[in-house]
Amino acid sequence: MSNYVERVIELCKQNNPGEVEFHQCVEEVLESLAPVCEKHPEYEEAALLERLVEPERGITFRVVWVDDAGKVQVNKGYRYQFNSAIGPYKGGLRFAPNVYPGIIKFLGFEQIFKNSLTGLPIGGGKGGSDFDPNGKSDAEVMRFCQAFMTELFRHIGPYTDVPAGDLGVGAREIGYLFGQYKRIVDRYEGVLTGKGLQYGGLLGRAEATGFGIVWYAEEMLKANGEEMAGKNVVISGFGNVAWGAAWKLQQLGAKTVAFSGPDGYIYDPNGINTDEKVAYFLELRSSGKNICAPYAEKFPEATFVPGKKPWNVAEDFGVKVDLFIPCAMQNDVRMEDAQNIVKSGAKFYCEGANMPTTNDALVYLMKEMTAVGPAKAANAGGVACSCIEMGQNSGHTVYQHEDVYAQLHTIMKNIYNACAKAGETYYNDKNALVQGANIAGFEKVAEAMMAQGLV
Ligand code: GLU
Repeated sequence: MSNYVERVIELCKQNNPGEVEFHQCVEEVLESLAPVCEKHPEYEEAALLERLVEPERGITFRVVWVDDAGKVQVNKGYRYQFNSAIGPYKGGLRFAPNVYPGIIKFLGFEQIFKNSLTGLPIGGGKGGSDFDPNGKSDAEVMRFCQAFMTELFRHIGPYTDVPAGDLGVGAREIGYLFGQYKRIVDRYEGVLTGKGLQYGGLLGRAEATGFGIVWYAEEMLKANGEEMAGKNVVISGFGNVAWGAAWKLQQLGAKTVAFSGPDGYIYDPNGINTDEKVAYFLELRSSGKNICAPYAEKFPEATFVPGKKPWNVAEDFGVKVDLFIPCAMQNDVRMEDAQNIVKSGAKFYCEGANMPTTNDALVYLMKEMTAVGPAKAANAGGVACSCIEMGQNSGHTVYQHEDVYAQLHTIMKNIYNACAKAGETYYNDKNALVQGANIAGFEKVAEAMMAQGLV
């Protein structure tokens, strides 16, 4: 690793004490940028990496709301506006009890490269709150969202910063946030994406992240002489991302033999092979219980395995697995899980959630498997469609499903090609997609930052 990269990683750790997820993600990205920084000594002179790891602006605020029992509640709100070199800040809002600056900064930092990879004009940002929507009534969620937006509105706008959903922020929350923004500013504009279809939302946005992941994985397979049809796939999670992935896998003739929830995992020997099963994902999620066990009651051919993750399904059920797609949350796959994944004999691993793999597990998987697809490339389809939604709103028009899918498919192929090309150029390996994604995402942002001077 170059001295420059090492120095900036250390500096970032010192400047952001205790924010371990942020450190992890900065380390993962910067390490793979070493050969680019060696080729461009002017980046060090311009303190480019030091600037990259420092958000352009970070906003933290108090969110005060009243619960159904009449009790006053206080939460923390955040928006980290990381980098606007190539476009307005763009990235989701996460509402979850474990949210703190380390989580939002890791997500915001990742978003810079992800958004750049889409080839679209969007910078990187992320926000959220330690508010937990689970177990809250609709009225409580609405009052929280209104209080949250009453501060956030002054920092965002269609040409400044365009938030969207993430964990804990779905169509319901976006609706309440949008309503409050519109009420305050008295303008109807595309300030949020992931909106309902009746008020500016994009057809296809809901499934875009999952579809994009599978299209990216398909390119990984094709480049290594394989096809998606007939493959056995294991995913984790059963939220929006997992649902979209399972749906596209079903369309392409692959078999999703396992998926998981916080309560354990489901093994379905027939796979999620019908529209009814795909649709049931949504029903499970909207039940608000956050458990996947009921799937095995509804579809008796399936088995529920309590308290376990799906990474050892090959051994548990003697089934062959070809591809693993973690779609739940950060650090879902640790070293021990990675060892089980490798033991299963699968050749492909494609990240769906943001940073689902610990750094040591990722290095191990990259060494042992044919190809590993990184989240910031594979799950970029969601934010890419968000940018298409921004275009739809500012053009005062409505795009059709076919147009969105066609654009998304092309974007995912382009992202794959950019990653493989950078991997080949800097690491002599078309399957060095993890490093390739970081480099391809970085190059455009770096050039834009250099062109714009010391800002
Ligand atoms: N939260 C999603 C992501 O991680 C979507 C962000 C967006 O659409 O702005 O990319």
